[in-house]
Amino acid sequence: MGLIPPDILENIRSRVDIAEVVAQYVPDLRLSGRSSKGRCPFHQEKTPSFHVNAERQTFHCFGCGAGGDVFAFLMKIENLGFSEAVERLAERAGVPVSWTRESSGAGSQERRALLEALAFAAEFYRDCLLKSPRAETARKYLASRKVSEQASEAFQLGYAPGGSEFWAAAEKKGLAREILAKAGLISAKEGRPRDYFFDRVIFPIRDAKGAVVGFGARTMGDGVPKYLNSPESPVFSKSRVLYGLWEGLSAVRRVRKAILMEGYMDVIAAHQHGFPIACAPLGTALTPDQAALLKRYAPSVAVVFDSDKAGEAAAVRGSAVLLSAGLSVRAAAVPSGKDPDEFLHEFGGKAFKDECLAKSEGPDQFLTRKLLASAPKPLTPEAKSSIGREVLALITKVPDEILKSEWTKRLAKTLDVSEGALSREMGRAVGHKAVRMPPEPAAPKPAPAAAAFFPPEDAQVLRLAFENPGAAAAMAVEDDFISHAGRKIWRAFLEVKDGPSWDARLSVAESLDEAERSCVSRLLVESGKSADSEKALEVLLARRRALRRLREIEPQIRDMGAGKRPKDAVLQEEYLRLCLATKRRGN
Ligand SMILES: [Zn+2]
Repeated sequence: MGLIPPDILENIRSRVDIAEVVAQYVPDLRLSGRSSKGRCPFHQEKTPSFHVNAERQTFHCFGCGAGGDVFAFLMKIENLGFSEAVERLAERAGVPVSWTRESSGAGSQERRALLEALAFAAEFYRDCLLKSPRAETARKYLASRKVSEQASEAFQLGYAPGGSEFWAAAEKKGLAREILAKAGLISAKEGRPRDYFFDRVIFPIRDAKGAVVGFGARTMGDGVPKYLNSPESPVFSKSRVLYGLWEGLSAVRRVRKAILMEGYMDVIAAHQHGFPIACAPLGTALTPDQAALLKRYAPSVAVVFDSDKAGEAAAVRGSAVLLSAGLSVRAAAVPSGKDPDEFLHEFGGKAFKDECLAKSEGPDQFLTRKLLASAPKPLTPEAKSSIGREVLALITKVPDEILKSEWTKRLAKTLDVSEGALSREMGRAVGHKAVRMPPEPAAPKPAPAAAAFFPPEDAQVLRLAFENPGAAAAMAVEDDFISHAGRKIWRAFLEVKDGPSWDARLSVAESLDEAERSCVSRLLVESGKSADSEKALEVLLARRRALRRLREIEPQIRDMGAGKRPKDAVLQEEYLRLCLATKRRGN
């Protein structure tokens, strides 16, 4: 953290509005009192308990305790390191970031080298597609698949000639062989390296920040496999990226919706026909990581897969993963048995919208309809039972209990069976299917011991102190706090209070542990800035100190009363005064 000059951090903080950053992830963020309130992106909840205080530039969730400044928010929600979060926000704020990440460790140095090699490869492949005579087949192939020039440009499609053409260019550029091999661009075997991709159309795969992290590559002939992805590398994990997400991210962010498709060609066709919110997993089943990635930007997803049996099954599996992650899901079938990209090219975007998307249904209905289509007619009791159980297995993935019961009701009606039987069956399904479900992120609950660890008395002093730091620092002392946490927070406060954005910095103070920081972020969103608090703090501290002294001398006064101790007039007088001050009745 010390590597980034504080003035750069301050510059970024002053230009970025935390409420604006948060609003991208918390669509229902609304102004409420002195802070904005919305549903927490870090835990599942129905009523908003996530607060952002724009004045303080801090956030706090009263549900799960998450809190901090804008950097902490971005790190947590995008799963970034501190310097990455700073870079992102710097870019957003238009602040030139002068520090280099030289000192940030070997790991990130290698990452940078890998990304550099991959970016170079993307450029090389693109250049080949546009210029190389050998790419003629590739150009013809893309034209036959009706990929437009603009789409080809937007997705930076390329062509890999193979042999060692790429290696030769990379070597000339001075890229290290081991990095190229690690990035999966050349084979790592002994001797003269060979290119990994041979005579294939190249689809660069970008992460959500826009960096090329790997490639998908398609043969144009009968080569096997039809699609080949980059091997996994420190920057590429195919289960954690979605093809086309970055290319359409601004649209996805705007409408908070996405279309999940099956393949690269579907995504490109969708973008080309006016649906830039389309993205796809990389030729594998949708993973919980991908669902979580999607959820950050689009809480609502339409699944549009191929209309063959395999496509339908994949659509149902994908829907289940999305449902488990808490997304709202619709499934749509492409009419006339076509694949989405064929349909789009043949009938256009409007038909896709009207005949496909507009007719999307709940994944439960989609699955029920598909199963009914291939069931014997009239429906036998056995067929009802088997369809019922299969659809229930999907319904159990829905975290929302109301939705779950509505879908069950719907299924009972469609199959003409009793809802009670389905509910009982569901209870059993949950019992033995539970192991197969992807793990739910455990919602962190505030610790029950929180009150003991951080008593309201200390919270009250700190809240007033935060409202008027200058005056507070002159009035309160460490002994005014009764808890260890209170004293620690007070010390951290004294350290930062004179600097700029002391409140945002305090919310992420390194000297505090997570629970203490959570207390700080809570108090910060609760407090404003007010000069009146000086008087209030003075009164509070006086009473607090009087009470403390009172408790100290009470036993001695009692002993005097019982004759166990000689009378002490000075102490008695002090006692009476304290009783008056604290409005306690003396004895
Ligand atoms: Zn929360």
